[in-house]
Amino acid sequence: QEEYVRKPEWLKIKLNTNDSYKGLKKLMREKNLHTVCEEAKCPNIHECWAERKTATFMILGDICTRACRFCAVKTGLPTELDEQEPERVADSVKLMDLKHVVITAVARDDLKDGGAKVFAETVRAIRRKSPFTSVEVLPSDMGGKEENLRTLIEANPNIFNYNVETVRRLTPTVRARATYERTLEVLRRSKQIKPNIPTKSSLMLGLGETKEEVMETMDDLRSVDVDILTLGQYLQPTKSHLKIKKYWTPEEFAELKEIAMEKGFKHCESGPLVRSSYHADEQVNAAAEA
Ligand code: SF4
Ligand code: SF4
Repeated sequence: QEEYVRKPEWLKIKLNTNDSYKGLKKLMREKNLHTVCEEAKCPNIHECWAERKTATFMILGDICTRACRFCAVKTGLPTELDEQEPERVADSVKLMDLKHVVITAVARDDLKDGGAKVFAETVRAIRRKSPFTSVEVLPSDMGGKEENLRTLIEANPNIFNYNVETVRRLTPTVRARATYERTLEVLRRSKQIKPNIPTKSSLMLGLGETKEEVMETMDDLRSVDVDILTLGQYLQPTKSHLKIKKYWTPEEFAELKEIAMEKGFKHCESGPLVRSSYHADEQVNAAAEA
């Protein structure tokens, strides 16, 4: 019998699913779009979609060529590249009247450009149709090629987000193909290409990392000039995914936030329910003002 750590009270929340939420879900199906908010069953969906006017779209399909052990996205060989997707995402952003949108994508190791062109076109299409909406990109490493990174960054997103996900020691067991060093390298290069675009990275806690290791990762991220950090609790999507080793308490998250701010991050969101895209609308301004 395997042992499971019990879910603490602060994570037992009820999904608020009202009519506007149902309407938005219908819109996603009609436009054949995918959101992380729905696929990851994110507990913040009502707050984000209805109140804060933010959402996270997953483009380039819903089948990923990788299989990270924390991630619920389907793995397989994608069959197509949908060139109309950028316009449909932009139409939905406008219909949803979003203030801030996060665009992420599955890893498309089957494509030469890793999907960079469609990704960049999505940013441009949103800008055209909703010039006041801030756009954050959260790409895969796009094959680790600088030209792909450049294609995306030249579309001028408001935030470039690339998640380190976990501490150095745990990276090989948590992530597929992506390495810790390469993650830092992508963040460093993004700053070199366009120094004025704030960079951001996120860590999931609860995979067995120590506080010291989290602090080391903060230092590593600051060493490549990352501006924004988010820290949240890892939740196991299914029993076949990595097990939760620990539930960090709200007090521990608060302490880590203080440490992060002392280390020079311009903004840090840290809490059990924090997701990479949580309160992202505030971060645009915080990073711009700092
Ligand atoms: Fe979507 Fe992110 Fe908000 Fe969750 S936190 S509902 S994934 S935008
Ligand atoms: Fe999930 Fe991204 Fe890993 Fe694919 S590359 S399995 S979408 S975390």
